[in-house]
Amino acid sequence: MSSGKINVSVENIFPLIKKFLYSDHEIFLRELVSNATDATLKLKHLTSIGEAKVEYGHPTIEVKIDKENKKLHIIDQGIGMTAEEVEKYINQVAFSGAEEFLDKYKDSAKDTGIIGHFGLGFYSAFMVADKVEIITKSYKDEPAAYWTCDGSPEFTMEPADKKDRGTEIVLHIAEDSVEFLEESRIRELLQKYNKFMPIPIKFGTKQQALPKPDDAPEDYKTEYETVDNIINNPTPAWTKQPSELTAEDYKSFYHELYPMQFEEPLFNIHLNVDHPFNLTGILYFPKLAKDMQIQRDKIQLYQNQVFVTDNVEGIVPEFLTMLKGVIDSPDIPLNVSRSYLQADGNVKKISNYITRKVADKLKSLFTENREDFEAKWNDIKIVLEYGMLSEPKFYEKAGAFTLYPTVDDQYFTLDELKEKVKDTQTDKDGKLVLLYAGNKDAQHSFIDAAKAKGYEVLLLDSPLVPHLIQKLEADNEKLVFTRVDADHIDNLIKKEDTAISKLSDEEKEKLKTAIEGVVPAATYTVQLEALDSSAAPFMITQPEFMRRMKEMSQMGGGGMYGMGNFPDM
Ligand code: ADP
Ligand code: MG
Repeated sequence: MSSGKINVSVENIFPLIKKFLYSDHEIFLRELVSNATDATLKLKHLTSIGEAKVEYGHPTIEVKIDKENKKLHIIDQGIGMTAEEVEKYINQVAFSGAEEFLDKYKDSAKDTGIIGHFGLGFYSAFMVADKVEIITKSYKDEPAAYWTCDGSPEFTMEPADKKDRGTEIVLHIAEDSVEFLEESRIRELLQKYNKFMPIPIKFGTKQQALPKPDDAPEDYKTEYETVDNIINNPTPAWTKQPSELTAEDYKSFYHELYPMQFEEPLFNIHLNVDHPFNLTGILYFPKLAKDMQIQRDKIQLYQNQVFVTDNVEGIVPEFLTMLKGVIDSPDIPLNVSRSYLQADGNVKKISNYITRKVADKLKSLFTENREDFEAKWNDIKIVLEYGMLSEPKFYEKAGAFTLYPTVDDQYFTLDELKEKVKDTQTDKDGKLVLLYAGNKDAQHSFIDAAKAKGYEVLLLDSPLVPHLIQKLEADNEKLVFTRVDADHIDNLIKKEDTAISKLSDEEKEKLKTAIEGVVPAATYTVQLEALDSSAAPFMITQPEFMRRMKEMSQMGGGGMYGMGNFPDM
């Protein structure tokens, strides 16, 4: 038996770990299951390169509650440790065994998916336990070791008689952490952090129906057997190649990710890059509700299949945070502040990559199946419009697939529209004039009148339209958007006005004076029978610029849909 002091600096570190290392005490389980996973993946690697001459088999990780004795066990069948290794990897706090392992096996171990980085994960156990035991046996032919520590820097170590390879960690749960002895709490944590980890994780048992025998009698009652309850899916869809997956697979993964979500996603984007950073994932465009309540299901960030957070702010460009799905990248710095995250070069690259990838996918959806894309347009437009306004890189690409629907449900790109109206809808300065309505019912008489003149009328009804129009006009010198009920629509009309007045001039004057008496002349213009074939005897219009001012001031300030502040225009 040996005993000693872990490290002089530890005396100061321990209370820090207990209190401040992780604000969330629950992550101890994530760390210990990650270590068990690392240990198993290390063994897999060593057997595959022939360095460990043992059978890899089908190792699992087990999490077990012993409520009576207030203990929680995490048991793996991985690489294990010799006494010497415990001394080195466990006693030397902040010495990262994982880091060393990766250094040593640099090239061959790159893709093993080992998680540890900081050499502090193990000590997070002391956030919830007042005593921790390790019983471990290395894959090497050496005696097992037993280590225990009560949270002070003193530890003891002695040989153990464990026969099978692997490591068992025993936590003596502290009085203030008894919640971690509850089955429901542990199940919840495993579901949250470990749902897609690469090694099967066993937690308790469950009843499983036996297949009905062929010669079952009439009154056959289903029989059950007790089987291990495996809580995770070790090979989630995002770890596979797109070519291995069907449309159905993507959909069922969506529901696996969000069990409470019953709507089908509109389409998905499979992310897969390994240079200059490593990132995989699947993003889904959800069907957005009209009123867009705060989205409960968010994009989840993983690191080597370990859940990290569902706050992807800074990693995913803001306009895409309305999407759903997963991103898995070992190259996003962990355990660091958000501001650091934003300053990190890799993180910015990742965000740009995602923007580009989403734009490319939208473009290919548009070119490959335009009809389908048009059908989905109303569900996705708000995300795209917001992207165009907030991400210059996205704006550059979006012209190729952004659609402008007409009041008759036809969809055009901006280029198509320009081509279509170039001979019929210009003003005196030679600018193309695109007429649009914001509300089909309210503006129907203006719409009918404009259509009767042979004009295209767009239906632009999203709340971002005033901003988008301003941007498009700024970037397209020869383009103006004009509301279909604007006062100067008549000025751009080049064709002969064919309306024949049924009122005498005197009658017209009278009518005009009467109307002007009730509407403020400074803000409205009264037109009599100005628009042919319109059923309306007169129309009251408002100058375009006044309307826009009003719309913008109504929209200004405040966040949109929880997307944060609106970009300054
Ligand atoms: P990290 O995982 O970042 O290296 P930890 O504090 O979580 O840091 O673990 C320290 C080291 O202890 C690991 O790198 C590993 O060498 C060793 N270790 C921890 N848990 C196990 C385990 N279950 N099996 C084998 N080795 C382990
Ligand atoms: Mg670790």
